[in-house]
Amino acid sequence: MFKNYIGPDHIISKKKEYLYPCAHHFYKKPPQFVRGEMQYLYDQEGKQYLDFFAGVSVVNCGHCNPIILEATIQQLKQLQHTTTIYLSQPMVELGEKLASILPGNLKHSFFCCSGSEANEGALLLARLYTGRKSFIALEGSLHGRTHLTMSGTGIDMWRTDPYMDDSFHFIPNIAAFDEEPEKAAKHSIKALKKLLKDKGKDIAAMIIEPIQGNGGIITPPANYFEDIQKLLNKYGILLIVDEVQTGFARTGKMFAIENYNVVPDIMTVAKALGNGIPISAFCTNDTIAAAFNKPSASTLGGNQVACETALAVLDYIEKNRLCLRAEELGKALLNGLLALKDKYPLIKEVRGIGLMLGVELIKKDGTPASEETDTILEILKDNGIILGKNGLNRNVLAFQPSLVITQGDIEKLLSQLDIVLSEVSTN
Ligand code: PMP
Repeated sequence: MFKNYIGPDHIISKKKEYLYPCAHHFYKKPPQFVRGEMQYLYDQEGKQYLDFFAGVSVVNCGHCNPIILEATIQQLKQLQHTTTIYLSQPMVELGEKLASILPGNLKHSFFCCSGSEANEGALLLARLYTGRKSFIALEGSLHGRTHLTMSGTGIDMWRTDPYMDDSFHFIPNIAAFDEEPEKAAKHSIKALKKLLKDKGKDIAAMIIEPIQGNGGIITPPANYFEDIQKLLNKYGILLIVDEVQTGFARTGKMFAIENYNVVPDIMTVAKALGNGIPISAFCTNDTIAAAFNKPSASTLGGNQVACETALAVLDYIEKNRLCLRAEELGKALLNGLLALKDKYPLIKEVRGIGLMLGVELIKKDGTPASEETDTILEILKDNGIILGKNGLNRNVLAFQPSLVITQGDIEKLLSQLDIVLSEVSTN
């Protein structure tokens, strides 16, 4: 230990005193994490935890990955910050690298610092290009915390502002219908068709997450986004794909939308691009990029340190074949979770792609098992495993580990989960 840690109780009391009441945390008895090492976290007492949430899909390459850290440290020592009014080699190199891995003809990037900021920029770009004001979003979506992105967020608990922007129309996602995904998708598309008929000419863009993360790992069927894009094209409406949570190898492809054979007009990336260093971007093709021509700058966006880190992240993902790893390990985890579903009626559904999986829990009467979800998370944490949770009722266990986990880690998690599920099911 290199610091005198104050411990969880003091942190909680200082949070109450110096932060805002909105700053909630997981767990009745939360640990103070003080160190990270690839797929592991360590608390103030030196206890090790296997991390299956990766700081909400951020550290895809592992905590404090030494190879990536080396690039960050080198750049920190050499030049930390100049801002975009000066020429920066790391920023253009990252733009070039991203262009080589982005789907289809996406080529131009504007760098900023958070997912919210990237989505805000994407929405602005859509307005600039189309000259139209309105947007479409899906219920159950999460796009950010700024005014416009919060207004486009379809989860009540994250819609804090009492004066939301009125630019958004929401259509039901597949989870709004208690039916098979294919049938639910048809209902969702029908709602979109109706909206487009009424308002299509005023709409600049539709923003979607390929897999809704916070909404509960909602994973649409194969043709859903292709069908959406065909409809949008008829009205000259752009498709913005928010890859903030799904991007960078998590779903077995570099970007989750590649699982759906769709090339968006605009794509946003954040979280895992920096593996823990703040960086985000909104990316588009030549034609749309040309509409963003008035001066615009982000003071810290595209900062040298963030860009050098992101370049090292992308290199690490490719050299270590993390897409393939996520696909293969994802299959093993999915199969294990499906076997647990057969065993425990508490599990309603297992869904997701690659290493972005969700397990929805319900009580015997079919209502959301939100308290049971919390209990499972708490016991697993006590046993040294960190899982996430999400969903509109916070009853979906979220499995979004670093992509450097091993088959052994998955086996450990599944056997622990089996034990905890049997305990919770009998209570
Ligand atoms: N989009 C998605 C899909 C997200 O999951 C999040 C955050 N969880 C955001 C946008 C907002 O990102 P940030 O917190 O970096 O602003």
